[in-house]
Amino acid sequence: MHSGEGEQPFNYAVGEYGSRFLTEIRDNKKFMGVRCPKCKKVYIPPRKLCGPCFTEMDEWVEVASEGVLYSFTILRFAFLDPETGEKKPVPYGYAFIKLDGADTCFQHFVEIKDESKVKVGARVKAIFKEKREGKIVDIEHFVVVD
Ligand SMILES: [Zn+2]
Repeated sequence: MHSGEGEQPFNYAVGEYGSRFLTEIRDNKKFMGVRCPKCKKVYIPPRKLCGPCFTEMDEWVEVASEGVLYSFTILRFAFLDPETGEKKPVPYGYAFIKLDGADTCFQHFVEIKDESKVKVGARVKAIFKEKREGKIVDIEHFVVVD
């Protein structure tokens, strides 16, 4: 990865649950979450502990790659994309998405094709990259489903 003139390579560990989450997206285009044994809440992305219950979670459940827009913003100013070092073409959306079967929201980009269709409650689906590498950007973005 590079940004501007200086090369700034770095890696970080996403942990056991983050690794499984990204691996399932890479290999199977599946979203895997975990369910709390006490309150039954399904977390996406998965985490080890349910905060409110203070309970360890180890029941993996698949949720849909479709869901609804919970909230969003539309970016019209091009920032440097940390993944590429290039300016990310505008406009694009950044949203909290509630995938079907999940109780928490997942954050990702939303394609802005027809802005009038990008609304809270709109149905969206994930578009996966053809060549996936185990990164969160293996999901290209979400698109509004008509
Ligand atoms: Zn719980």
